[in-house]
Amino acid sequence: MSAQIIDGKAIAQNVRNQVRLDIEQRLKNNQRAPGLAVILVGLNPASQVYVRKKREACDEAGLISRSYNLDETTDQQTLLNLIEELNNDATIDGILVQLPLPAHIDDTLVLEAIHPDKDVDGFHPYNIGRLVQRMPTLRPCTPHGVIHMLETIGEKFKGRHAVVVGASNIVGRPMHLELLLAGATVTTTHRFTKDLATHVADADILVVAVGKPGIVKGEWVKPGATVIDVGINRLPDGKLTGDVDFETAAKRAAWITPVPGGVGPMTVAMLLRNTFMAAEKHDAS
Ligand code: NAD
Repeated sequence: MSAQIIDGKAIAQNVRNQVRLDIEQRLKNNQRAPGLAVILVGLNPASQVYVRKKREACDEAGLISRSYNLDETTDQQTLLNLIEELNNDATIDGILVQLPLPAHIDDTLVLEAIHPDKDVDGFHPYNIGRLVQRMPTLRPCTPHGVIHMLETIGEKFKGRHAVVVGASNIVGRPMHLELLLAGATVTTTHRFTKDLATHVADADILVVAVGKPGIVKGEWVKPGATVIDVGINRLPDGKLTGDVDFETAAKRAAWITPVPGGVGPMTVAMLLRNTFMAAEKHDAS
């Protein structure tokens, strides 16, 4: 193996430590600790793990997290009423609704009900629109976390070709916008793309977010490329794996993220940072 491993856990811990120091400073200035409301509807096991990690991270950083564990059968209006209440709660700076929601709830309606200033996931059309127009406010956590990782390893972006595999609203599309903002030339591929291998082979920076183990073969990777694997897949033996064939890709890449321990921890760290930023903006307005 020749690639250097990008240690997402360590990079994320640095972000979390900085947020903790920033919150300590707020308290010294007699400002309140930022508050995050985390809403979980139903008992999806993966969502329960993600929500627990987010709450633990809040505690460590000194944020106040308020939990709302709603029953699977909660109706849409009840959820919208709760969001409205939290939009008007001056002690809450961020509102997070864990996805996926049960099928009877329209997630677009729910995400758009969150006030853009409290949209710490960065999914509201206002915040996505700001990113499109190169004036980012609250930025989607996973793609922003990837950019932070790339900056940490000294990536310069300008003059580099970035290829994104996957075009979802929460990862692929905002990832494209973030890489464009950073100055890279960006190609985004998706389920209708023909000849994925050719696109991957041309990537100086490759970001993969599909959710299919091994969809990107190691032999496709350009020698010296930086490979960021966003995919999280659970194998039948219970182990987690990404979307990229790690062993073969690591023989060709210069840098590569592991799964687990790569992008995953960054998402939580950027959520904390967004909540801190939302609190600062709230206090300044
Ligand atoms: P999604 O299912 O919403 O989107 C998958 C995307 O992959 C779609 O745009 C689809 O067009 C594309 N795709 C499917 N087949 C393809 C192919 N053959 N070639 C190219 N593109 C193809 O998934 P998502 O929510 O974007 O998540 C993707 C993966 O990232 C999942 O494994 C998820 O668990 C993981 N994820 C990780 C984090 C993290 O913090 N690390 C955060 C969010 C999602």
